[in-house]
Amino acid sequence: MKVTPLEDWIIGKSGIKEKKPKLLAEYQLDKIRETLDYAKRNSRFYGERLGSINEDQINSLEDFKNIPFTYPYHIRQNPLDFLCLPQREIKRIVTLKSSGTSGAEKRIYFSEQDLNLTIDFFKVGMSCLIDKNDRVMVLLPGNTYGSIGDLLKRALEISKVPCFIHGVMVDPEQTAKDIIENEITCLVGIPMQVLYLSKLKMDVFKSRIKKVLLSTDYVPDVLIYELTHQYGCKVFTHYGMTEMGYGGGVECEALDGYHLREADLYFEVVNPDTGEAVQDGQSGEVVFTTLTRYAMPFIRYRTGDMASFSSDPCGCGTFLKTMKKVLGRIDNKVIIGENKFLYVWELDEAILKFKEVLDYKACITDENLLKIEIKSDHQSIRNDIEQSIQTLLYQKLGYGYKMKLAVIADTDSKPEKITNSMVKRKISDFRGAGI
Ligand SMILES: [Zn+2]
Repeated sequence: MKVTPLEDWIIGKSGIKEKKPKLLAEYQLDKIRETLDYAKRNSRFYGERLGSINEDQINSLEDFKNIPFTYPYHIRQNPLDFLCLPQREIKRIVTLKSSGTSGAEKRIYFSEQDLNLTIDFFKVGMSCLIDKNDRVMVLLPGNTYGSIGDLLKRALEISKVPCFIHGVMVDPEQTAKDIIENEITCLVGIPMQVLYLSKLKMDVFKSRIKKVLLSTDYVPDVLIYELTHQYGCKVFTHYGMTEMGYGGGVECEALDGYHLREADLYFEVVNPDTGEAVQDGQSGEVVFTTLTRYAMPFIRYRTGDMASFSSDPCGCGTFLKTMKKVLGRIDNKVIIGENKFLYVWELDEAILKFKEVLDYKACITDENLLKIEIKSDHQSIRNDIEQSIQTLLYQKLGYGYKMKLAVIADTDSKPEKITNSMVKRKISDFRGAGI
């Protein structure tokens, strides 16, 4: 097994002389101080929020834990307040629609240098899974300058690997044709879309696709298992969000969690309620600080994603940190009992293990009924799915739980219509609506 290529890249970028976590931490602390100084001087938001903080008094990463967090609502309130460069130097603006009811949007700004940093990361990140014989198809948006697909294509051009930007899949027939025509061996896409394609186009998948990189959403274990064992694919996952500059971390050949873009980003995992650091191995909220960003740096940004650092060294032998698979959004849950929550990723695992399911929708109605709408041509499996969810609810709530459950067919949309949204899925909760 080869060690993650991120290791040499990070050593090169950070200039550390030995493969020691302590030396990398010293580099990160230096960059954190630089970022604090830069952000305070150039962005209105950090000038006001952190103006009284003297970065020279931050002598350790422990000291850095006293710096206040940045929250997504800060960006929504006034994204321009974060800008550190004049607007003419902004080459890409990404508008992120809120999944909540507030309707406010987040805007994330990138300069040319910021985009180039991401291309550099994508180049190394993709080398974790592909080689010169591969041909890559990207099932993500890529038509506009600086979009995720555009940056990925430019990264692969540097590595001389053919890359086809397909865009988000809307017609699996066409996608399958494109795979065959372009002799694609590697797919990059959203988990639910790749799952959908693999179920509808089993033969194409089995004969063509050797590697898959899944990104932008929770990746169900059952999907990884199926792609690996049914189709013989090697499945890598990537973790990133727009605020990170799209890319955050990618798995190595050990396929046991992401190695992170540690020369550009400093990661923490904190207790979402108290904000205190949690121990390695324990789940908490992912927090990151940008170390090399020009247009819009972030300091201790609360991602809302739930994950943990691995407490064991990675099988690839790297000295870098490993982050365990992200479990989804912390707030992407519904309350189902006293201090008991149901997460989307738990439903994913309980439902998507049935091969016949292409997609599903979940909500809790006014009458405390958990309603699952299944998209499948095989109606007969609804009882099995119901049993699977009952087992999950029983495990979480114990005997005598009160939650009602209904598993019904999704007749809303035609079978060929697929989840083509980049917005993360959620369990809608209609209890108390209208009160
Ligand atoms: Zn590794």
